[in-house]
Amino acid sequence: MDCLFCRIVKGKLASEVVHENEGFLVIKDIHPQAPTHLLVIPKAHYPTLVDCVDEGVLGRMLSTAVEAAKKYGFAESGFRTVINTNREGGQTVFHLHMHILGGEPLSEKMV
Ligand code: AMP
Ligand code: ZN
Repeated sequence: MDCLFCRIVKGKLASEVVHENEGFLVIKDIHPQAPTHLLVIPKAHYPTLVDCVDEGVLGRMLSTAVEAAKKYGFAESGFRTVINTNREGGQTVFHLHMHILGGEPLSEKMV
């Protein structure tokens, strides 16, 4: 696959990487919707949440989000995780990813 996030994972496209572990990259979103807006990106390509039937990957994606939230210091004060899925879910990049929003009270704010 050679989608946008696969290119980022392979280092072919520049991004601001803030955290990494064996299976995931966490980068800054280029159009932040909160003071901190990160994306947890699996290194393996799954177009959408619906295509990822690997519960291990899904579990590790959540724990990677927690690792990043701890790193940014808002694990206890609070943050939001969002996965947009397919067209009506607002997904625009078809490589599974989870948004992390934090750094201010979020109220009704949506990604
Ligand atoms: P979604 O709409 O859920 O598919 O989210 C895609 C997100 O990727 C959006 O919030 C975009 O701002 C973000 N995005 C698109 N291109 C890049 C990029 N090159 N680097 C970082 N974030 C990006
Ligand atoms: Zn991809």
